[in-house]
Amino acid sequence: MSHIAFIGLGNMGGPMALNLVKAGHRLAVFDLAPAALKTLGDAGATVAPSARAAAEGADIVISMLPASRHVESLYLGANGDAGVLGVLKPGALVIDCSTIAAQSAIAVAQAAQAAGIDMLDAPVSGGTGGAQAGTLTFMVGGPADLLERARAVLLAMGRNIFHAGGHGAGQTAKVCNNMLLGILMAGTSEALALGMANGLDPRVLSDIMVKSSGRNWVLELYNPVPGVMDNVPASRGYSGGFGVDLMLKDLGLAAEAAMNAKSPVPLGELARNLYALHSTRGAGALDFSSIIDLLKKD
Ligand code: NAD
Repeated sequence: MSHIAFIGLGNMGGPMALNLVKAGHRLAVFDLAPAALKTLGDAGATVAPSARAAAEGADIVISMLPASRHVESLYLGANGDAGVLGVLKPGALVIDCSTIAAQSAIAVAQAAQAAGIDMLDAPVSGGTGGAQAGTLTFMVGGPADLLERARAVLLAMGRNIFHAGGHGAGQTAKVCNNMLLGILMAGTSEALALGMANGLDPRVLSDIMVKSSGRNWVLELYNPVPGVMDNVPASRGYSGGFGVDLMLKDLGLAAEAAMNAKSPVPLGELARNLYALHSTRGAGALDFSSIIDLLKKD
């Protein structure tokens, strides 16, 4: 079993780290939030006073942080603080599971390589439910032999593991997927709001569409109307889950990737503007399925 440092124990990282503890790995953990640390400490992980302290002596470092700047600061350092790459032993493996810009993933991988450390970008899909159940999908960028080294650890947290290509390719795949998810959530919300505005029961409409050609992941697993499904953010005040501001970040990453490649993404850009409007109205910290509030009649 590996000695793993796990940094970032939020909605996703918390349950992912718990699954690693359950699989018998030795974990040292760090997060800025004391409550997140307590949960992992109670489960048997060692709570470290800093990310660098957690990483000392680790064979593998896993990070699950909000955005590019957090990942770059963690590994490369910021504001005079040294990064985690400085304390890792040569041959250690870094697996970043956060969703960040492909260019940031490549920059950190190059810095790691220069220090004799291996790195994979391994963003995930499957939501907090998938993180809890250990059924996440991993989209991995980096050399294939490194993926084989990481496979057993990834399988403790997920079910499907894809090799997308070289460094950064996992992030590119993830951004394409999440652009589609943002569009699907907005589109599904629009259809449900239209049905409700015309007198339909959202449960009945959801049952119809999930067995019809409008069927999609949102209707199957993540209905945005409160009370239609148990155990989804919509049925607990849009708490937990995947934040509006995180979806907005991913749609921004998609827009950047589109500009770099001169690729048209008209629906992705429309979705980005919808989530931006929703966020500026105060919904940034709510789950992204709350986008239905922007579309539904009062
Ligand atoms: P979150 O905001 O719930 O958790 C982020 C955690 O990082 C928090 O606990 C925060 O305290 C911690 N953190 C921030 N800066 C830190 C630092 N410098 N050192 C240590 N800890 C720090 O976010 P999340 O929903 O868990 O998402 C994490 C990543 O996973 C994001 O990139 C997101 O886009 C991606 N993602 C999320 C979901 C989802 O459904 N929530 C699904 C797939 C991918």
